[in-house]
Formats: sequence, C-alpha cells, structure tokens
Amino acid sequence: MEPFPSDQIQLPRNMIENSMFEEEPDVVDLAKEPCLHPLEREEVEYEPRSSRLLVRGLGEHEMDDDEEDYESSAKLLGMSFMNRSSGLRNNMAGYRQSADGSCSVPSTRTVVVCTVVVVIAVSVIMVIYLLPKCTFTKEGCRKKNHTMELIYPLATNGKLFPWAKIRLPTDVVPLHYDLVLQPNLTTLKFAGSVKIVVNVIQVTWKIVLHSSGLNITKAAITSAGGSQAKPVEFLEYPLHDQIAVMAPEALLVGQNYTLNIEYSSDLSDAYYGFYKISYKDENSKQRWFAATQFEPLAARSAFPCFDEPAFKATFLIKIKRDEQLSTLSNMPKEATTPVTNGIVQDEFFVSLKMSTYLVAFVVADLKNISRETNGTLVSIYAVPQHLNQVGYALNTAVKLLEFYQKYFLINYPLEKLDLVAIPDFQSGAMENWGLITFRETTLLYDNKTSSAKDKKLITAVIAHELAHQWFGNLVTMEWWNDLWLNEGFATFMEYFAMEEIFPELHSDEDFLNLIFKAMMKDSLNSSHPLSSTVQSSEQIEEMFDALSYIKGASLLLMLKHYLTKDVFQAGVEVYLRNYSYGSTKSDDLWDSMNEITNGTLDVKKLMKTWILHKGFPLVTVVRKGKNISVQQEKFVYRVEPENWTSDASYLWHIPLTYITSNCNFTHCTNAYLLDQKSAVIELPEEVEWIKFNVDMSGYYIVHYTEDWKTLIDLLKKNHTALSAKDRANLINNIFSLAGLGKESLKKAFELIDYLEKESSPAPLTQALFQMSLIYNLLEKRGEQLAARVMHRIEHLLGNKIDQQTWTDDGTLSERELRATLLAFACAHDMRNCRVTATEMFKKWMSSNGTTSLPSDVMKAIFAAGAKTNDGWEFLLKMYSSSVSEAEKNKMIEALASTDDVRKLIWLMQNSLEGEVIRAQELSHIIATVSQSLPGYLLAWDFVKENWEKLTRKFHLGSYTIQNIVSWSTCQFSTKAHLLEVKTFFESRSEESSQLHCVKEAIDTIQLNIQWMERNLAKLQEWL
Ligand SMILES: [Zn+2]
Repeated sequence: MEPFPSDQIQLPRNMIENSMFEEEPDVVDLAKEPCLHPLEREEVEYEPRSSRLLVRGLGEHEMDDDEEDYESSAKLLGMSFMNRSSGLRNNMAGYRQSADGSCSVPSTRTVVVCTVVVVIAVSVIMVIYLLPKCTFTKEGCRKKNHTMELIYPLATNGKLFPWAKIRLPTDVVPLHYDLVLQPNLTTLKFAGSVKIVVNVIQVTWKIVLHSSGLNITKAAITSAGGSQAKPVEFLEYPLHDQIAVMAPEALLVGQNYTLNIEYSSDLSDAYYGFYKISYKDENSKQRWFAATQFEPLAARSAFPCFDEPAFKATFLIKIKRDEQLSTLSNMPKEATTPVTNGIVQDEFFVSLKMSTYLVAFVVADLKNISRETNGTLVSIYAVPQHLNQVGYALNTAVKLLEFYQKYFLINYPLEKLDLVAIPDFQSGAMENWGLITFRETTLLYDNKTSSAKDKKLITAVIAHELAHQWFGNLVTMEWWNDLWLNEGFATFMEYFAMEEIFPELHSDEDFLNLIFKAMMKDSLNSSHPLSSTVQSSEQIEEMFDALSYIKGASLLLMLKHYLTKDVFQAGVEVYLRNYSYGSTKSDDLWDSMNEITNGTLDVKKLMKTWILHKGFPLVTVVRKGKNISVQQEKFVYRVEPENWTSDASYLWHIPLTYITSNCNFTHCTNAYLLDQKSAVIELPEEVEWIKFNVDMSGYYIVHYTEDWKTLIDLLKKNHTALSAKDRANLINNIFSLAGLGKESLKKAFELIDYLEKESSPAPLTQALFQMSLIYNLLEKRGEQLAARVMHRIEHLLGNKIDQQTWTDDGTLSERELRATLLAFACAHDMRNCRVTATEMFKKWMSSNGTTSLPSDVMKAIFAAGAKTNDGWEFLLKMYSSSVSEAEKNKMIEALASTDDVRKLIWLMQNSLEGEVIRAQELSHIIATVSQSLPGYLLAWDFVKENWEKLTRKFHLGSYTIQNIVSWSTCQFSTKAHLLEVKTFFESRSEESSQLHCVKEAIDTIQLNIQWMERNLAKLQEWL
C-alpha cells in the first residue's frame, strides 16, 4: 500500500511540514468499518471479558453492586484479579468459615451457605490459577501460556467458542475459494456465498476462520469423497472477528473438505472492506461506485476467510452486476452470462496462489485505455469524465513494468494489470494483485492543471505499487510484524526505479528529505524496532508508519551501497525465486543475500543490528592529522537528560562511507565497516576536510566536533565541492545535533549562511524545513523572534525568490523549486509575492475560472485569492465543479489556509461529513489548518470533539489517525498544553492512549518545551 509518498510523517518539535513545500495530502491507510465491532467499549478487551463471564457463570449471585464497581475500578487501575479474590475472601468471613474451609455448624442453612462458599472459593481459586497474569493488560498475553487454551471465550449464542487467540489455529489451511457476490448499488447491500476447500493438517472437530460484520445465513461442510453437504453448527466471536464451524465428525488429517457459507451484509461506509462511494457523474448526477480495500484486516468483512497473509490460496471470483455497469477483479474475465432481467454474472479466471488482503473487486461505470507489453495487457480505468487524464499513467506503468521484469528477472505472472482511479480513497494506492486501486490524485494527470510535483507523485505511486507485484504479492511477509519487507522494499524500489527510468524527476532528493523526517520520528523514545511484535488490529494498523516505509527503504539503500549494485540485485533475485508464492520473515531475505556473498560477508549479522533496535547511531568524528577516530552511540532526543543513563547495549554495524578533500567526489568514496563502539581510520595522507555518509546513503547522523567549522568554511568558499545531497545532509545533521544540545544553534545558522548561492532543491528544502520548524514554534508562542527568523530567511533567499517567474517554464527541478519558493514567499507575505498572486487570481476569477493558470504556482495563487471572502467563496464553487483532481487538491489546501476561523471550522466539519468535501481530504485539511496561527488551536479542539467519529471513520491506529494526532498537537510547547494532551488521551479508551502516535505526540511536546528552555534566551542574544 502507498500511504502517500510524501506522507506527512509525524515529526518532532513543531514538525509541520509547511504546506508551501510539501504539497501532497498526507495520509495513508485504511479506515475500518465502524460497525465491525458493534460491542460496547468494556467488551472490547482481549481475555478479560471471557474470563469475567466464566466467573459470573460460577458465582453470579454473590456478586453485588459494590463488587461490580470494585471490579471495573480494578480494571481501570490495572489491578490483578488476585486483589479482588482477597476482597471476596474477606467478605466470606461473615459466613463463619473455619481455617480449614469446613463449616463449623452443620445446619441445613449453613450447609447451603457453605456449599455456595465452597463453590465461590473453588471458582475463585480456579480463576486465579487459570487466569494468566496478563489478563487485564491491553495486549493480552505475549508469552505462550499453556493455561490460556483452557479458557475459552463465549460465542454470541452463549456457548463456549473453541478458540481464544487472535491468530487463527494452523490445524486447517485453505487451498481454494469459490466466491460469488451480488452487490446492489441501489440498496447498498450485498449478498455472497463462498465455498472454501480446506486441507486438514491435524485432526480436529472445528474450523476457525475470520468473518466480520457478515450476516451468515447458512453453513455446511462436504468431505472430499462425500457428495452430500452436511449442515453444521457455527459459532461467532465478534471480538476477534472469528467464526468456528463445528464439524459433525472428526476432520481427518490429509483430507480435503469444502466449507459452504452463505451470507449478506451492507456495503461499508468507511474506507475499509467492500465499500460504497458516492460521486457526481459528468451530468452532476449522483452515482454509486463499489470498491474494496482489504489490507490489512478487511477481507473478512467481504467474505468469510482465513484472513492472515500466510494463508495463501487460489480464488475463483464471480460477480453479479447490473448490465449497465462493469466489474474488475484480480484476474481477467473469463465469461459473462445472463442471470435475470438486467443482471449478468461476470466470472474471472482462477487466481494464482495469494493472500486474502490482495483480493480485490470493483463494480462501477468505468472507461479505460490499454496497451500490451510482453504478454500483459496494461489498462488504466477511471470514471468516464476522467478518461482524458489517464494517458500519462499508462505510459508510465508500461515503462515501469518492463523495467521491473528486467531487474528482477522474473516476469509479471498475470495476463493483465489494471490500474483504477477510485473517486474516494483513504490511502494513496493499494497493490491488489492485477487490480491496483488509486486515489484519483495519484493516477490522473491533467496537462493543464497538474504540476511538476504532481507528475512526480503519480510516477512514484505507480512505481511503488508495481514493485509490490513482486514484493508483497509474489513473496509476502509471513505476519504483519515484518510489514517492512513489503513496504520498505516497495518504497526502495519506487525510488530506485524512478532514478533509473525517470532521472529527470530527481526523485532521489525527495527520498532524502523523507529519510530525514523518518529519522526524526525514529529518534524519539516512543519509536519502535522495524520488526516489532504485533497482534491487535490497532497494533497492525500502526505498523503502516514511516518506519516500515522509509526506514525500511533507507536500510536497503545502505545495504545496496555496501554490497554493490550487482550483488544486491542478485540477492533480490534469489530471494524472489526462493519464496515465490510463499511467505517470508526478515531472516529469509538476509539468508538469500548470504547465498550470493557466499561467506565473504554475513548480511544477516550486519542487518540484525538495524532491524531489531529502534533508533539509529550518532557517529562522532575527530580528526587528528592522518588519523580519524570514529565513535558510535545511540542518537536519541532525551526529554529529561539528567534521568537517562546511556544505553551501552546498542551497537550497530555501520557501513561508513567518506570522501575527503583529496578526491573528486564523483569517484572516490571510501568505505569502512564500524562494528565496534569506536575505531581509528588511518588516511594515506592528511586532508583539508572529510565528509562522512556520502550522499546520505547510510542511516546515521554524523557529528564533526571541531571540524564543523572546516565544513562551514568549505560551503562558503566552494559549496559545489560537495554534492547537493551531501549539502542537504550536513544541514540536517547540524540542526539535529543542535536539537540534541550537542552543537549550538548559532553554528547551525552559520552553516546555512552559504544558501544565497544554493540552487539545488534538496539543500534548500531541508534548510527551509529546519527554519520553518523554529519559526512555527516561536510564532505559536507569540515570540517577536519569529519575525527575526523570517527576516533571516528572507535575507538568505530573497534574491532567489525575486528571480522566479510565474510560469511553468524550465526543467522539472527548476519548476519544483519555483513552486516551493513562491508558495513559501506568498504564505509569509515576503517580497512582492502576494501582490502578484492576488492579481493573477483576480484575473482568473473575473474570467469565471476559464483562463488557465501556471500549474506549478497555482497553489500560491489560490492561497492568495482565498484570503478574501469573495475569493474563498469563488474557490469553493470552483472546487465543487472542477473535474481535475490535481486542481481540486490545490484548491482544498488554499481553502484551508484562510485566516477566517469560521471557514476553517466549516471545512473540517464538512470534510468529516463527506458530502461537499470528501472525507479523504480531512487529514490534509487538518494538517494545513494546524500550521496556521489562527487554526492550530481550532484543529486540536476539532480532534478532541470528534475523536470517536474520526476513529470510527478512519480506524484506530491507521496512518490517517497517526497524522491527525501528530498534526493537531505538534505545535504545542507549553506545560499546559502537554497536560491537556495527556489528560485528553488518558480519558479515552486504553487503545487510544496506548497508540504509538499518542506517545510520540507527548514526546514531541516535551521536546518542544525543552527546546524553548534551551534556546530561547540564546536566540534573543544573537539572532
Ligand atoms: Zn506499499
């Protein structure tokens, strides 16, 4: 899945990526169907509910109201059941129980009382023994506990459900699914039937599989030899999205059985499962569109299935539809047959062996263009009014498909590949095998309104999803803890393929800036190892974060540089061949690489140090004559430095690279593997300067101690002695070190004094980003210093801003830089920017939007126009009628950058409702509103007030929720705000307060407070 290539990753400090230089909507991921978990909050816990019910079953009459209260308080306080049992024992003293537990007065009444007491005592003791200690923890048990399996939860009908774990049992595995679906775009419901052929691995009486929100009307089972389907009892346990089919007789090892289930459900109104989308056609008539988004856990809400990535099977899909519409699925269509009047059935070829989360289908009114390459028909689909915007995607997809087949030396295995633009879509795109779904802005390119950045975005997302056809679809991670194998690889391949096929896009520089942001997130104490244990749906959703995507990709980039291009490529090929149609863990990748290195280098040993630790190393360099001493430690932003002890257990194997003044930077990169805490590199001769982490190919930060001065002088004297990526890397590193307190902010500002001469986007973007972080923090605190920071930026970039033209001329790189600089200048009313933009907007408005505007600066023009009431209203009207998604995207951001608070509230509320403004835009709107002085408190209030609705629509833990939490809190730098954010999330469900993104938000505010304390007075002195 593509979260959004430039997904606005949660960043420390005020980390708002200024919309001026980060255009794309953030976002990512999926939202979960709100009705999937129709249980009340207190029921939504792992083992506790079942355990509690068992206890009640045994001694319900004895539990009075006080005890009930006590129990819920204990749960709140995280107390163990042990406490409660002692409370019960105290109460029992009133029953004159003797020390040995027998009754001292053998009257009838006493016997009855005594029996009750004994039953209670026995049941309490049993519960104490049977309940694992972790019963009341949110995660349930992490360690395997034998007693766990003895405690079964209760199914919806009150019977014991025969399985207590979140993961499915492995005694039965699916081989094949026959799925028939009939969606109705008038009633917005669907009916389905599925036949699942399973194979029995261990003798059993039950088949446990997933189902969520489905109304199952019939279940039957047929043995391989038997012709008669036997009705079976089935049990439902909605808390784990599971059903159990109870077989009438033992299911025998090695035998195949066919499970037959009929069901119905509503089309989902979140972006998850089989969901409905409302859109306007070319005649402004409302139409319905049905599509799927299953990753990670929603195939189960479209059909009962074994919904874990390692349970691969083949799928035969049949869809009944209105004859006016069309359907698409993973495989090509085999036949269409009439069913009843006006209804036909499409049947698709049997799929390859694949995971359930990759199954997909679409029912809608669609048009397409196609081209064949190497035996595969590539098609781009969109709603009819967008058909004129699909040409760029088709050319790009064909080129990329050809490139990947050559690079992996494995052909794309299907006869067709469809790319479909979906009118309302939560993430950027989804890699379903053979049927890739996209948000419209990531697939549709409009010659008039799409900017250079839009072109890059579309290319990147297609490159990412096509790479998934191998990484993810052909070879899949075994479980979600290794999601980075899918997403890290697809992200790595996305940038690698773009560099190879579309070098003019300079996508490697974008990648660099994404790595910087991922490192900021990874340097917080709330970060997590790349491969982390996950079980609950929130934990799985949370794996779709910047670390899985960007850190994963940058570690592969580092490995590719270290192994060399050819060895890396050969390792990738071995990996894909060894595990085609199978599932893998991280170690399988390293073992495949080791097959190529053949003992000369242990890739597994090297990479484990990066995959299993959170964070990354800080390498400190000290130069003395020819000797360069290097030392590693963990780079971490410590909120309370005095309370921290250094964590000496971290040791990375770091493939260091460096260049010196004595060589031409294009040819003489040196390498050194630092696998100790410290080492000394001896150079052949003394050098004037040395720069480590060449082109930022490694995932670490470098501190040059005394040599920062040398590098600052070098940049002033001759900045092109270093590559643009190296310059961006130095800017990032020194500002990061200033945040850590290892270097002064003053020195960081000295380093960027050379910027007047800079013309490459990467260092300029990084410098603007760092200065905007500081500016935004100061501005929100009402500090006069903010104006001085802006003055400094103007001093450095003023001339460059003046040189920009209001056109789409020049190379892609020049155009992108222009968009960044002018959007920034207009937003801060710098130079003459807003005057020019306002004039252009007025002309455009007076032509009723018929004149065309230069696409790269369109956003700056719209934002300037939206400052007035008339301009804003006109823009909203144009937003509603525009058929260009690229244009609409720029309009929505301009609308959200107004200073009128009533309009900001209106925008957020309307986007949540999804009628005038689609809900897919909401996190983009919140991000934009959060950045502005009039908006940042509104955005937080909006999130607080609508938290339940937001988490229902976008699903707890999803990338969208991660971004919303991050954006709405990251501008805070006071203790009062810290307390407010903490208190708010603590008052929500435990699942909410335990989210990584909430911990990150709290870390970030603490860091902002610390940053202010550390730097404010000093900045006053010298800025
Ligand atoms: Zn992806």
